[in-house]
This record gives sequence, structure tokens and C-alpha cells, in this order.
Amino acid sequence: MMDFVVLTIFPEMINPFLNHGIVRRAIEREIISASSIDVRGFAEGRHKVTDDRPYGGGCGMVMKPEPLAGAVRAAKANAPSANAKTIYLTPQGRKFDQGIARRLAQFDGLIMICGRYEGVDERVLDGLVDYEISIGDYVLTGGELAAMIVIDAVARLIPGVLGGDDSAEKDSFEGGLLEHAHYTRPPVFEGEKVPEVLLSGNHGDIEKWRLETSLIRTVLKRPDLLKDRKLNLQEKEILKKWCIDIEKIISA
Ligand code: SAM
Repeated sequence: MMDFVVLTIFPEMINPFLNHGIVRRAIEREIISASSIDVRGFAEGRHKVTDDRPYGGGCGMVMKPEPLAGAVRAAKANAPSANAKTIYLTPQGRKFDQGIARRLAQFDGLIMICGRYEGVDERVLDGLVDYEISIGDYVLTGGELAAMIVIDAVARLIPGVLGGDDSAEKDSFEGGLLEHAHYTRPPVFEGEKVPEVLLSGNHGDIEKWRLETSLIRTVLKRPDLLKDRKLNLQEKEILKKWCIDIEKIISA
């Protein structure tokens, strides 16, 4: 069972997230477990201080190493498996994507350190952290949102978490394409009809249409995804036909 542990000075941010939707259902069904640890609980003294001024001067505060190290060690000691990995969420880490989510889903446990202020004392990273992960090239005020994003993306890849067996396999980025368009009832919405083929009941035609929309929207929205992906014969044919249709529209 995958065990997610979030180390934070704001556990109250994490707990409501764990209490909703698919993540909550997966916890209830004991497919995953997830919890937060209050780093403040590992701080010394009456005031439980978790940050201090940076050596060398400068603005902002830095998270002290002792409370973080204490929290990481406690999380590791409680981890159900020795296969648990420790992640520091940081804008300086490797950029998170579906491929990394898939790799992380192979482990039995993820312990996630959320920084605040200017970040954490570098010495915590040296001995205790396996991976540094960024959720994008922008700077947040803390790692909590990043940790929730990682939990959300990884949890849904764990077998049994999503309803249908193959729900995650058909998502965007799996297979190197964006996912096809979706429609639901009503059949006409503000004058716009659902594509005829989806009402036809012909599964072969529906699959072909889905592949077409998947390919075309990848070309239009994220052509970069196709750079390192080989197209198969059927995909090439679909794109060639699409180009011919566009040529016709241009020359009409
Ligand atoms: N001074 C740091 C820097 O420039 O690299 C940024 C610190 S940021 C204000 C505070 C904390 O938010 C970080 O320690 C990290 O845990 C989290 N954080 C901010 N941006 C993030 C991102 N893009 N991905 C993951 N975590 C992020």
C-alpha cells in the first residue's frame, strides 16, 4: 500500500485535501494511506521555533535543520516499508510530469518535505532527501500545494484508485498524446451538437474518432509532445488526411 506523508508547519492545509474525492475514497478503501506531520512538533523550546535568520545576512528566514530532520526521521521510522523515498518540494528540483508521477507510483511510500520562507537549511537536503521535485517554473510561498499536487497525480496511478481499470491509461500524456474530446448529455447544448459518431454505437468508428481528436488537438495545443514520439501508420494517415482537408479549406 502506498503511504504518503507530508512534513509541514501547516498540517491543517493538507488534511482537508485528504478528506475529499478520489483520494479520500482510496484512503477509506485502504489502497493508499496519507497523513501529515507537524514539523513544529520537533522544534525545541517553549515557542517551537522552526525558522531562523540566514547566515551571511539577507532578507527572509530559513527553516531550521533540527525540526525538519527530526520530522523526516520520525516519518522514516514509521514508514511501513524501507522502500519509502523522501522528496523535497522545491522550485529548484526536477520538473514534475506524468512520467515522474508514474515512477513515484512504484514506491511504497513518499515522505514529502514542504519548505516555507526562503527554503530549508541546505544540510537537511544532503543526507535525508532522495529527490528534489518542482511543480513548475514559478515560486510558491510553500511546498504544501506542490505536495498535494504530487499526491493527487501519483495516487490516481495506483491500481484500484480510479474506478475503471484503464481510466489513467487513456489520460493526456499517457502514450505521448493529449486525450480526446469528451461530451455528455444533453445531445444539444446552446445549439452545439454532440458529434454524430459518438451517438452511432459503432465502437470502431468511435475509437477512430477519438484517436483523430487526440492527435489533432496534440498538434494544435502541444506540438512539442510529438517531437520525440514516433507516429504509427494509422496516426500518419489521420494527420495526412487532416492536412488535405485544411488545404481544401484554404484553396476554396
Ligand atoms: N528561495 C527559494 C528559491 O528561490 O529557490 C524559494 C523558496 S519558496 C518561497 C518556499 C518554499 O515553497 C520552498 O522551500 C518549497 O518547498 C516551496 N516551493 C516554492 N515553489 C515551488 C515549486 N515551484 N515547486 C515545488 N515547491 C515549491
